[in-house]
Amino acid sequence: MTQTARGNPDTSAEADIRPVERATFESYDPRTEELVGSHPTHDAAHVDEAVRTARGAQRWWDELGFAGRKQRLDAWRKLLVRRIDEAAGVICSETGKPVDDARLELILVIDHLHWASKHAESVLRRRKVSPGFLMANQAATVEYLPQGVVGVIGPWNYPAFTPMGSIAYALAAGNAVVFKPSELTPGVGRWLADTFAEIVPEHPVFTVVTGYGETGAALCRSGVDKLAFTGSTETGKRVMETCSETLTPVLVECGGKDALVVDADADLDAAADAAVWGAMSNAGQTCIGVERVYVVETVAERFLELVAERADKLRPGGEPRADLGPITMASQVEVIRRHVDEALNLGARAVVGGSDSVRPPFVEPVVLTDVPPEAEAVREETFGPTIVVDRVTSADEGIERANASRYGLGATVFSRARGAELARRLRSGMVAVNSVISFAAVPALPFGGVGESGFGRIHGADGLREFTRSQAVTRMKYRMPINPMTFGRSSRTVRHLMRLVRMLRGR
Ligand code: NAD
Repeated sequence: MTQTARGNPDTSAEADIRPVERATFESYDPRTEELVGSHPTHDAAHVDEAVRTARGAQRWWDELGFAGRKQRLDAWRKLLVRRIDEAAGVICSETGKPVDDARLELILVIDHLHWASKHAESVLRRRKVSPGFLMANQAATVEYLPQGVVGVIGPWNYPAFTPMGSIAYALAAGNAVVFKPSELTPGVGRWLADTFAEIVPEHPVFTVVTGYGETGAALCRSGVDKLAFTGSTETGKRVMETCSETLTPVLVECGGKDALVVDADADLDAAADAAVWGAMSNAGQTCIGVERVYVVETVAERFLELVAERADKLRPGGEPRADLGPITMASQVEVIRRHVDEALNLGARAVVGGSDSVRPPFVEPVVLTDVPPEAEAVREETFGPTIVVDRVTSADEGIERANASRYGLGATVFSRARGAELARRLRSGMVAVNSVISFAAVPALPFGGVGESGFGRIHGADGLREFTRSQAVTRMKYRMPINPMTFGRSSRTVRHLMRLVRMLRGR
């Protein structure tokens, strides 16, 4: 496995899973390359032990019931509010992001945790359903029971918000969780588990294992009842492959190449603001970040001017109040450089920045236009503060171009008259109309992708159910005068049913 400049291993598709060689590994501050912390490299035996212990803890957690769990999750939420700056400090030191971006990430975590604990009971508790005409003598109910132990594997770009989309909902649904944070942000994972244990000291309901990809693979093989993965598409495929060995169900939240479509009647100021924020906040390291813009040609010039004006003002830096932080994963800098250089070589025009904007560990904003569709900058996740703006003849063509991607995570539409109609035609899991990324901040909405962006849903009622198994129960209330489900039935019974079905279902 190759090592990056900061000593972080390359976990890309090419990198092999190798046997654990080291007992510890380090996390570094990407702004300064200073050592942040040292963490154990957990091997398969340790991961198995963590899952075994979690299984015992889960039974206790389950027995607490919705009210008992809610009380504890609410107490944890209040702790997160009280200690938000401490948590933000840990996030900043391992990702390098500006402090307000870390705070915003934690505000979202807190709101989702509130929603999950508040709504778990009403979404998951046992409820009656109609038994239908054939089984009118039965009481029919469905209940959503916890799966057991959920393994969560997370990325580094939103090291609290992203995994908590699984962790908070899995815990609220009654599961225990074993979390493997990214090797770039182990301290954030450790902080989350430690503060949870302050509130729930009785049993290890939520624990952390740390290490590289092989620790994640061990979690896939550990016998967890579900594996929730968030990370790149290439790793997502490997996770599925590993989980298939034990038929462990998976949720995969992967990469994206999200598009923003600007219609001719759009509020151009708002659209430009959204495009720049959507593309460049968190230095573009956002799975649902805007990477492509398709703007109707009649308004394209003005839109580009507005985008350029805003992007030009943004300055990356290591100080807490910089507009953009560094590129957290050192190896990503080369991907960004390659995408920008290739686009320019293929004839694209840089409206803001260019090849010189890539100054590791920082990347200054880059706005490209006239980029040919075959360029990597149009097809593949760049994950930097760059944006590709292209002209289209109509919003309809914009939708077509937006959909011409193997990914389908989020999308954005700016249109006064046709927002809802255009949104429906986008092949993506989420769409924001006349704002950007807003769906991620609505806890009641499901979050997840289609195509190579993955499948399964976190957040909202779907996100709670994702970490449960539905159990259907029928309970006989009284005996029917005719019973077709016995060898003791007569042929008259079925003839009678035939008459009924013709009458009730045949017309
Ligand atoms: P990554 O795929 O390199 O790593 C993600 C996690 O998987 C890490 O914890 C890593 O250690 C682990 N891992 C690596 N190899 C593994 C293996 N063989 N088996 C099991 N686990 C393994 O991703 P990253 O660089 O940390 O994160 C960036 C990516 O995540 C981007 O593609 C981004 O779009 C995506 N992402 C998606 C969402 C979403 O909700 N869809 C959210 C945030 C980030």
